[in-house]
Amino acid sequence: MDLSFVTQISAPRSRDDLPAPEPGTAYLAGGTWLYSEPQPTITRLVDLATLDWPAITVHDDELELAATCTIENLCDAPLPAEWVAKSLFRPCAESLVASWKIWHTATVGGNLALALPAGAMITLCCALDAEALVWAPDGGERRVPVDRFVTGAGRTTLGAGELIRSIHLPAAALRGRTSLRKIAYSPLGRSGALLVGRVGSDGFTLTVTASTIRPFVLRFPAPPDPGLLSRSLSEQISVDDYLTDAHGAADWRRHVTGVLAEEIRRELE
Ligand SMILES: Cc1cc2nc3c(=O)[nH]c(=O)nc-3n(C[C@H](O)[C@H](O)[C@H](O)COP(=O)(O)OP(=O)(O)OC[C@H]3O[C@@H](n4cnc5c(N)ncnc54)[C@H](O)[C@@H]3O)c2cc1C
Repeated sequence: MDLSFVTQISAPRSRDDLPAPEPGTAYLAGGTWLYSEPQPTITRLVDLATLDWPAITVHDDELELAATCTIENLCDAPLPAEWVAKSLFRPCAESLVASWKIWHTATVGGNLALALPAGAMITLCCALDAEALVWAPDGGERRVPVDRFVTGAGRTTLGAGELIRSIHLPAAALRGRTSLRKIAYSPLGRSGALLVGRVGSDGFTLTVTASTIRPFVLRFPAPPDPGLLSRSLSEQISVDDYLTDAHGAADWRRHVTGVLAEEIRRELE
């Protein structure tokens, strides 16, 4: 769709070229959401593609994704064999309503910034203990765990003019065994609940997304028994944290979250 209120497009080549923040500015990544609906408040786009960041960099101790890494790039990345948790990448992508045609353009950073409850790249990043590197307009930067970066449906800790530069997934988490469960009202529908479990050197973690207004990561020193898992879900995720929208009622989402969590626990036990 044409964004008819946009009067300026900035195409920075380096961080120094990024324009000073001003109202009405949006960062343009893949544009799959920006161009999908009218944006009457946006008058200027800053195109992140022209910064030409390398999509994927493999370090000894982490996987670095540029914010502009597309979902397709991520699914196709050749990665060290011992990073067995890469088996999560494609199922997470397939958990989006967006098809593979959209993965070609949609970026991981755009998914995080949009902060939709069914943002499956958020699920992936939380499950693998990822941190986002955020650039501030004054030249500063900060790293924030993705489960704390997303604070609510459509809400993040990004301040005015801040942008996600990259996402960092530690090798230790990538070496973990994982299990994913998704449920939706229809087979290819938007996720009503999307959970990932991981067992690794840091114990057992359970990431709960899509059923809740923000991601929750529950941590245990070892796979818990069913009672402890169930109690922890009740204690750490309040009734009000569950979401009601066209893709599921809160009471249904709370129920299926418990069922899927137990399935994951049993699989990884
Ligand atoms: C048919 C269809 C189905 C979809 N299904 C889903 C779904 O199931 N779940 C879901 O979460 N999304 C879905 N989307 C929305 C969207 O495609 C994805 O969230 C995608 O990953 C967004 O990435 P993008 O690069 O296209 O973002 P853009 O559209 O370019 O940007 C999205 C938002 O993030 C901001 N932004 C982008 N990059 C950065 C950055 N690096 N730093 C700061 N801000 C930034 C933009 O300013 C904008 O506000 C769907 C879209 C379509 C068209």
